[in-house]
Amino acid sequence: MDYRANDTIAALATPPGKGAVAIVRVSGDKALAIARKLSGVELRPRYAHLCTIRDEAGLPVDQGLVLFFPGPRSFTGEDVVEFHGHGGVVVSDWLLGHAFRLGARAAEPGEFTLRAFLNDKLDLAQAEAIADLIDSGSRVAARAAMRSLDGLFSDRVDQVQKLITELRVQLEAWLDFPDEELELEDTGDLEARFGAALESLERLRSEAREGVVLRDGLNVVIAGPPNAGKSSLMNRLAGYDAAIVTRIPGTTRDALREHLSIDGLPVSLTDTAGLRASRDPVEAEGVRRAHKAVERADRLLWMIDIRDDLDAALDQARTEVGEDTQMTVLQNKIDLVDAGAGRFERDGLTVIRLSALTGEGVSILREHLKALAGFGGEVAGTFSARSRHLDALQRAESYVRDARAQLLQTKALELAAEELRSAQSTLSELTGAMTSDDLLGEIFSSFCIGK
Ligand code: GDP
Repeated sequence: MDYRANDTIAALATPPGKGAVAIVRVSGDKALAIARKLSGVELRPRYAHLCTIRDEAGLPVDQGLVLFFPGPRSFTGEDVVEFHGHGGVVVSDWLLGHAFRLGARAAEPGEFTLRAFLNDKLDLAQAEAIADLIDSGSRVAARAAMRSLDGLFSDRVDQVQKLITELRVQLEAWLDFPDEELELEDTGDLEARFGAALESLERLRSEAREGVVLRDGLNVVIAGPPNAGKSSLMNRLAGYDAAIVTRIPGTTRDALREHLSIDGLPVSLTDTAGLRASRDPVEAEGVRRAHKAVERADRLLWMIDIRDDLDAALDQARTEVGEDTQMTVLQNKIDLVDAGAGRFERDGLTVIRLSALTGEGVSILREHLKALAGFGGEVAGTFSARSRHLDALQRAESYVRDARAQLLQTKALELAAEELRSAQSTLSELTGAMTSDDLLGEIFSSFCIGK
């Protein structure tokens, strides 16, 4: 995709298929001419014209609304026209085809938003927030995306940038007078400034981490011996019958996945076939998939029957799954023995006692999963964030730390100033003041067509 192209683009902005309304969106220099030709109307800016849309031969094709948003006061910053016609594949295809014949080309996924970004209508973090809003898996996640779209995340990044700019100004002033020795007592104020910058970076990163969890959620897999109650727990957590529960060992032959929300934390939950070896080819395939799911999990819940020996079960769990797998042990069916719900540590593993049947102790598990994700529920002001943001924040933080060390330990002013410059350019990757076309391609290609 040529990101700097300024030709006219067109796409269906509503999902393809039948619907009440289909919206075709056109952006670019030719948008107005195309709209005039199709509607035969002199369009007023930001006014909904009801008109009959005609083909080249002047035959009516559809009746609908035509809206014209002149640039730069439009979503993309260019002239934008929208046709709101009757939702149907043929009519919207015809309309689009006509726009193409009149000089527009098919928009790439996310290209309208990309143009909005390139024309400074929004920054990169806000553009990403649009995609996150569309993809959000819970209301909490949607609200967080809205906050990022409103610019909350970008504002916070700007605040940190400002603190670093102040530091740089002070350093550059010293650099301008190289003859003056930098006295230790002079650095007190600088140290405080470094402290403030680092503190806001750390705070921003921890909030961003929460934003990433909101967006990406936690990938949890339930495994363990057959009949331990894995499917029952899955149903209990999902709140409805998602998996088949029977008393015959080995019934869950396939890995079943559910998406649920624990107080707003998106969780992808996979119920696996038991991990035991089997001669039945169907069951063996299930076991293979179970192992794969375990490898990809953020957390494995190893479930056993509380009547089974815990130490033997722990040994078995350790031999079945890899060393690196993060695991929590669940002792299920506490309703059958004289044990209450609770949690404790054994050999460095967390063990939770619960009953998938009665639901007792399930809240302990829910809290445990939230804590693992570093998720504190809906925090006022949480914004959506992505792992690339976390990565940039972490890099910026280490540049600032290095700058502080250069300055305070070795008095290397030049190097410290250089580190601070690197910190700022890293931070500007977040809002897109400095971005590569590769990064833009990666971000916008995940958008839907017409957005
Ligand atoms: P899976 O093979 O690990 O998926 O086990 P299931 O969820 O299919 O459960 C096996 C059997 O144990 C079923 O009869 C369940 O009703 C029963 N079961 C599951 N959890 C509990 C529990 O907490 N208490 C009791 N008493 N029975 C349970």
